[in-house]
This record gives sequence, C-alpha cells and structure tokens, in this order.
Amino acid sequence: MSENDLGHALGPLSRYRYMFPLESAERRQAYVWLRGWIPGFAELCQQIDALLGPDKRNFRWTRVREKFGAPSLAYQMDGKARFAFNMHRPHEVLRVECATREAFDDVAIEIHERILQREVLLRSQCIICGAPATITSAQGPWASLCAVHRAAVLPINLDDPMGPVWMAARVGEDEVFGLPGV
Ligand SMILES: [Zn+2]
Repeated sequence: MSENDLGHALGPLSRYRYMFPLESAERRQAYVWLRGWIPGFAELCQQIDALLGPDKRNFRWTRVREKFGAPSLAYQMDGKARFAFNMHRPHEVLRVECATREAFDDVAIEIHERILQREVLLRSQCIICGAPATITSAQGPWASLCAVHRAAVLPINLDDPMGPVWMAARVGEDEVFGLPGV
C-alpha cells in the first residue's frame, strides 16, 4: 500500500469522510489529528471501509483523540459487536454470555477488534513522526514519543495553550481531508 493509494494528495482520510459527520464545536472536541498517527489511523479506516462493503451501516467516529499519551478511539455503527462481558470479582473473572453468538454481527465484531488492535499499535508510534515510541512525560504532558522527539528541543509558542509537544504533532483538517471537490 503506497501513500498514493491512500489518496495522499487529497488528504489521507478524504475517501472516508462519511466516518466523520460531526460539525463545528462538537467536531473540534471529538477529533484531534496527530501527524505520526495519521498513516496508521488511515489504514484502519481503509480496513473498516472494506469490511463494511457497500452498506456503511451508519459507521461514524465519535472520538479520535489521545488521552494520557494513548489513542482514544470511539465509534458507533448499526449492528452488535458485544456478545459477552467479563465480570471482575475479587478472585475470579467470570465471562457472561449475553446471547448466542449467531445473534451478533460478524462484521461489527471484526471492526471492533481491528480498532482495539490499532489502539495498541498506535500507543507505540511517535505522535510527531510515527517512529517506534513509548509513552513518556519527557516533554511535559504524557505523550507517545520516539527517542529523537523525547529529547528534541521543540519550538515554544507562548500563545499556544496546547504546549510545544502538541503544536509539533497537530495537523489541520485541510491536510487530513484535503480540499473539498478536488
Ligand atoms: Zn518522533
């Protein structure tokens, strides 16, 4: 998969706009774009799009952010992905089946698992450059950073409430989605 195949010139997520229906303040709150995570996240969107097929089942991201350095992804779609839950007791974990396996949607289950797997992968990718990383407070706030960016002197813009590490990593919507109608 080359960058061109992801529609890089139009923005890596331009093919998957339907997954991001939120608008204005709600949108700014829900989606935070970090440069080093975008290729991996775009690959996840491509996998989900392929799993959905022609019927997109109202799939939509409700949160694409980070929290304490780790990715925090949330979504909604038509179809049930959970068929069991684990009850945590003091000395055991009890798995409770809620319904027969057949009552649930294979595609929804597969998508849910892909998202969980991708969150694990992104945890170890630098939010600035995508290189192998660990979650560290070396630049102040908890963030997933590679060895170079852990030690880098990042430019400080005193007007930026996000701080230098976020300023270095954040990407605008125009870059992520490309120009409309192009
Ligand atoms: Zn880096």
